[in-house]
Order: sequence, then structure tokens, then C-alpha cells
Amino acid sequence: MKIDIRGLTIKKAHSDLVGGKYSARDLAEAYLAEAEKRNPSLNAYLEIFDDVLLQADAADKKIKEGTATALTGIPLAIKDNILIKGRVASSASRILENYTASYDAHVIEKLKDAGVVFIGRTNMDEFAMGGSTENSAYGPTKNPHDESRVSGGSSGGSAVAVAADLALGALGSDTGGSIRQPASLCGIVGLKPTYGAVSRRGVMAMGSSLDQIGPFGKTVEDTEIIWNVIRGHDPKDSTSIDTDKRGYKNADNADRKFRIGVPEDFVSGEGIDADVLSNFRETLEKLKSAGHEIIPVSLPHAKYSLASYYIVMPAEASTNLARFDGVRYGLHISGESGIDDYKKTRAAGFGPEVRRRIMLGTYVLSAGYYDAYYGKATAVRALIRKDFDDAFGSVDAIATPTSPVPAFKIGEKADDPLSMYLADIFTVPVNLAGVPAISVPSGFTQQEGKKLPLGFQIIAPHFREDVLFTLGRAVDYNNEK
Ligand code: GLN
Repeated sequence: MKIDIRGLTIKKAHSDLVGGKYSARDLAEAYLAEAEKRNPSLNAYLEIFDDVLLQADAADKKIKEGTATALTGIPLAIKDNILIKGRVASSASRILENYTASYDAHVIEKLKDAGVVFIGRTNMDEFAMGGSTENSAYGPTKNPHDESRVSGGSSGGSAVAVAADLALGALGSDTGGSIRQPASLCGIVGLKPTYGAVSRRGVMAMGSSLDQIGPFGKTVEDTEIIWNVIRGHDPKDSTSIDTDKRGYKNADNADRKFRIGVPEDFVSGEGIDADVLSNFRETLEKLKSAGHEIIPVSLPHAKYSLASYYIVMPAEASTNLARFDGVRYGLHISGESGIDDYKKTRAAGFGPEVRRRIMLGTYVLSAGYYDAYYGKATAVRALIRKDFDDAFGSVDAIATPTSPVPAFKIGEKADDPLSMYLADIFTVPVNLAGVPAISVPSGFTQQEGKKLPLGFQIIAPHFREDVLFTLGRAVDYNNEK
């Protein structure tokens, strides 16, 4: 049977599947056909799995037995740094080209229990370092709105899989914006949950105090459906927290009016695209006419976020990546001695951005520089966190654009790491503070005859994802009205 996958959502597909309109196998075939057709040029998937139809048959069995969940038979795409037992997980790096995961990530266990169909593993910036997916060892992922432009990153493959109808939803990871920014550049929804709300067991660690796994969906509702399956306590991740015990409620705020804070100095700073800013203002107006209140707030230290993040993150990444020694995982190149093996393997296995961050991280942690750099960055981080705590004393949510610019051209920033880092200005403060945030499609800008999507970021206090979903629905143009 022919299924029209354009405009299909998880919610709709679920009701079709349990209503017997088509089977999970039919649905999987439709997504496989689209993926096979478009992936060669988009490069969203690094691998399309060979057992997709078998997974779909297992889902059909569940549906027949009447044990289907909201995600049974739903085709999802998984970022290549999240472990699926028996599958290659390379983090888009040469060093892990042949590495096969020996266990399932906690989120994968949960999705398997729910009966999800995994279509494939998606492209990303190597080890999640970057904001364009150009740092992948396997070529960039292209933006489906204009294939000469980047998808954003680091979870660019996951965002494109959803935006181009190669999956109904996806998982990504967000250390400094890697879910929200590609969601924004591709015109879909992406959620960075509260730090600790989703277990990190089985995601390859980059900046352990910043990393979070989170969902992508075409609509806010779809994103919420995936979030409700993956969240929750995991005894094997010591930073994981029971969201229910910490007061998380499913979004039942439909009629609540919120106070939305806007950090004026921060959002109208240098380097922000004029169309991005005017779309941001129009979206605030839309929220205001829906009855929400817009209030100026101040985040005085937010302007130091990039300086703090680009010390803390490389510091943590440099220690996390020490395990890739050519012995325990993946690539091995033999040299004259053990240390020579190590040097040769890492020189050949890591790309330039990963090497840059390992060097930076090692430097800022070294004796004599630790206090000046890492110590200072950590102190600034505490101030940024306090800025959010203070602001949330008077507002329910804070709004900013997700990215200061729409999707840029492939190659435009590739040789200029600093300009790439500057594009993370609105997303990194959120990870430094550990609070949740969502990027919701808010409109388009016209560039060179192409319509490029823009995203609106909403930030909430810890464990208030429900506020993000309620406000997100009011902004999201993909949402079923
Ligand atoms: N663009 C940011 C960086 O390069 C964020 C990466 C991420 O969230 N994984 O670090």
C-alpha cells in the first residue's frame, strides 16, 4: 500500500497503525524507499540497517497482540554516537570506523521495549564537535532546503533524516546546541532536556557535565512523545535523575498564560542576522497576542558563555577521548613502541577539529594553567547558572533565537573555527546551566531564491519541559492545529 509520508507525524502514524490502515512493515518500506532515494545526495545516514523489515514485523506482532505503545512501529533515526548492540557506532570518526557496540544505550533499551523501528545511524560532526556536520570523516550532511548549505550540527544527520522524511523522529545529543541548532536550520523541533533527565549511559562522552541525549520531531507533540519514553532514572548513570520525583508533569498547561523573559542585551548583540531578529520579534508578538506576557530580563554573564564553554568542553573532551588509544577500541596502527602506536593511531584516526580540542583541553588542564583557564571558566559557569536562577525568579521561560544565522553555505565557515564557535552563542549558556530548552520552527528567510527555516528557542527552569511543550505548540507552524 502507498503511504503518503509528507506531513505524516508520529501521532498520526500511531493511530493509523493501531487502526489497521497500514502495517509497520508498509510504513518501514515507505521510509526505506525514501531513504534509499534521497540519502545518496543528502548523506543523512551513514548506514541504513539491513534488518529494518524484521524490526517492523516484530512491531506488527505487538500491534496485533494489542500491546502497542505510542512508538511501536515508528521509524526513528539514531545519531552515530549512541550505542545499539551489535551495530557499528563510529561517532563519524575514522578511529571508530569498525567499532561495534557491545551493549545498548539506556535510551535504546527503552526504545526497543517500546517497539521502535530503527532505520539507521546518522551522520554527525566527529565526536559531536562542531556545528555544521562538516567535521564528519564521511562528508557533510546537506540541508534539504538548499543542498548547497549545511544541515547544522553536530546532530545534522538526525535533523535531516526527520526534515527530509527519511524517518519520523530521531535521537541526537546536545553538549552546546547540537540538537537545537540543526533542528533550527532544518525547520524541525529539537529538545535539549534538563541535565540528568535522560540517561547518558551508552552515548559516547564528550563534555560529561554538559552532554544530554534528546529527541527530534516534526512537531512539538512528536518530540514530547519520544521524550516521555526516553526520560527517567537509570541506576547505571550516577547523574541521572527521576524526572517524576523531581516534579516533572506532562504538559497539561494548555490554558495557562506564561511570563516569558527576553534578555534584550544578549539577543540584540553583534553578529545576529536581521531576518533572524525580526522573525524573533514577530514570534514574541504572536505569543503576546495568545495572552502570554513578555518581560525584559537580564542575563549579565551570558556574553561570557562561549569563553567558558570553549574551555570546559575541550577540557572534558580531552580526558574522555584519552580512551581511544588504538588498543581498546577501533583503529590500531602499529609503531615502534606502545607510545608510538598511540601517537600514530590518534594522528591518523582523529580529524583536525578533534585534535584541536584535545590540544586545547590538555593545555587548559595542565599544571600552571589549570587555575587561570579551567578554574576561571568554571567560576564563570557558576555565574551564568546563577543568572538563570535569578531570572527564573520572575519569569516562567526565557526566549532567544536558536541560531544567530540561518543555514550557511557548505565550506563558508569550515576553515574558520572561531566563526563556527560564535554561532553557538544562544545555545551554549543552556548547557552550562543544565536547564532544558527547545528549538521550534518559527518561520523562514528568503536567501538566493531559497526559503531557509528559522528557529525560536525557549528555555525553562530545571525539569520544566512541560512549559517548553506548551509554549512550543503556540509557536510551531508544523503543529497540528
Ligand atoms: N557546536 C558546539 C560545539 O562545537 C556544540 C556541539 C554539541 O552540542 N555536541 O561544541
